[in-house]
Order: sequence, then structure tokens, then C-alpha cells
Amino acid sequence: MSDKEYDADSVDAVHKTLLESTKAIPWKIDWDTMTFAYIGPQIEPLLGWTQESWVTAEDWAMRIHPDDRDYVVNFCISQSKEGIDHEADYRALTKDNGYVWIRDVVHVVRKENGDVEALVGFMFDISERKKAEEELIRLQAELEALSFMDGLTGIANRRRLDAALETEWASARRSGTPLSLVMLDVDYFKQYNDRYGHGQGDTCLKDVAETLQAAAARPRDVLARFGGEEFALLLPETDADAAKAIAERCIRLIAAREIPHEASRIGPLVTVSIGVGTTHTFTEDEPRRFVDFVDGLLYQAKHNGRNRIESGTM
Ligand code: GH3
Ligand code: MG
Ligand code: MG
Repeated sequence: MSDKEYDADSVDAVHKTLLESTKAIPWKIDWDTMTFAYIGPQIEPLLGWTQESWVTAEDWAMRIHPDDRDYVVNFCISQSKEGIDHEADYRALTKDNGYVWIRDVVHVVRKENGDVEALVGFMFDISERKKAEEELIRLQAELEALSFMDGLTGIANRRRLDAALETEWASARRSGTPLSLVMLDVDYFKQYNDRYGHGQGDTCLKDVAETLQAAAARPRDVLARFGGEEFALLLPETDADAAKAIAERCIRLIAAREIPHEASRIGPLVTVSIGVGTTHTFTEDEPRRFVDFVDGLLYQAKHNGRNRIESGTM
């Protein structure tokens, strides 16, 4: 029995029917001209933009949420140049100014000499999945608010720090021992997220937390995530000199961890700025005022060039 020969036209018709009846939206971009060779008609019901309105790769880029755009475009271009198949999640702009979460799965088609010829891919509507993810994040935040642990890094959260500060304040007042507080903020972290993506940003924060944990030597020391990319280290029974030495250790440990940060204006690695405050007088002052004082020193460290320590006594 010989192989059955299919008529090319009917095979094309089958392909076309399959491509245009699936929920995933197929597309093809010609690499040399950076123009769409094809995009499935399903794009119009999903985003509102007509099939004909997808002409250049620029049309695609401009229909990505501004917060996702640079990262997604740079990532897709660099992967494509390397000839690596890849995928990216982003919010696509709809014609009526809304956004739909898309997963774009991209296959790189290469010529015989290895040069990129075209990109072909499928866009998937992942808004349902994202909604479930966002609900999970919301629930996690709710849980976190009720707990003493920061969900991302696993170290103490702001609530735990506030509680420890109250306790140590009272204790220092009774015993007459100094209390120190170190506040640290990652330098140019917005640029880090912009350069590497939010997921990698989260990983960086976990690494920073883990690194700083090694600087908090005594059992009563509390390392906490103060918020965002800011950390605090509460040091009971620690005078100004000892606190400054610990802050210096933080800077050294972060440097030794060598987390790359190509978008930093300091250098090629992640750095932190630090404010270190010490107080001996607990009578009138509220712990809140102490936090503000140290925050002011941190602000000074930023202002004076970052990747440095500013210290003071309240
Ligand atoms: P500076 O050197 O002055 O501190 O600049 P910066 O960019 O670090 O500071 P800025 O306050 O402008 O930006 C902080 C960024 O940290 C913005 C925010 O999106 C990011 N960020 C805050 N929390 C998180 C988080 O949980 N995960 C990630 N990935 N990013 C976060
Ligand atoms: Mg900050
Ligand atoms: Mg910062």
C-alpha cells in the first residue's frame, strides 16, 4: 500500500481552519522587516483591534501595558536573537483602553545559515489564571497582616518589628542600656525590577534578607522587612560603635553576595544604603520618633551618594 498523497490545497485549508478555530491566537512576524506576516482573526474579539491593524512589531509593542513593555520587548528581542524559544506574560491593551493578560509563546524560525527568519507564536488569554493568582496574593497579604512573618522573605514583618521595638524600648528604659536601629534600603531597586522583571526582583529581596540575617548575630536582634525593598535591624543593648560595625558588616555581606545589577548607577552589583541610630534616652521619646530619626539618616545616606552608612545618636 502506498502512502496516501494529500492535496496541498486541502491541507492548507485544514491548517487554516484549525488555526482560526482554536482559542489560542496564532501569529507570525517576519524578522527582517519586523512586520506581521499573519495574525489570527480571533485577535479582534479578544482585544478589539482588527486583524489588519497589526502591521509592525511596533504595533504589538505599543499595545503592551507601559509597566510591562520594556521588559517584555527587551526579553523577546534578546531571546529571539539567540534563537531561543521563549514565552512572556503581559497585559495587552484593548481597543476600549482596558487590559487583558496574555501569555505569548514564541518559536524562533531560523534560516539554514542560522540567522533568524521569522517568529511564530500563539497568544493565550490567561486572564482567568491571573485573576486566581491575584486572589491568592490578596489572601496572602491578608494572612500576613494577621501574622508576624513576611510572606516573601520569611523574616519578621513590620508588625513584628513594631512589637519588638515597644518591648525593647521598655526594657532599655528599665536597664539604662543603649538601643540601636539599622535601616537599610536597596539602591536603585525600581531599576532592578525594570531591568530583570518583578519575579527576579522578588528573588533579589529574598537573597538580601538571607544575607542580612547573617549580620544579626545575637538572639535578641530582630531583622525585619520594613516594607518594599527596605529592611530594619533592631539591636538591643548595642551602642553606637557596635551598631555601626554591624551596619558595615551588612554592606560587606551584600557586596560579597555579588547580586548583579546592571541598571544600578553605583556599580555592577546590588548595594544598600544604611541609616544607623542609637539612643540612650527613653523618657519622653516615643519609639516612633526614633524610627523617624533613623529614617532621616537613611535619607541622608541616599542623598550623599548611596551604598553608604550615615549614623547618629538621638
Ligand atoms: P533608591 O536608590 O532611592 O532607593 O531608589 P529605588 O528605585 O530603590 O527606590 P523607589 O522607592 O523609587 O523604588 C522602590 C521599588 O521597589 C519600587 C517597587 O516597585 C519595588 N518593590 C517594592 N516592593 C517590592 C516587592 O515586594 N517585590 C519587588 N519585585 N519589587 C518591589
Ligand atoms: Mg525605598
Ligand atoms: Mg530603594
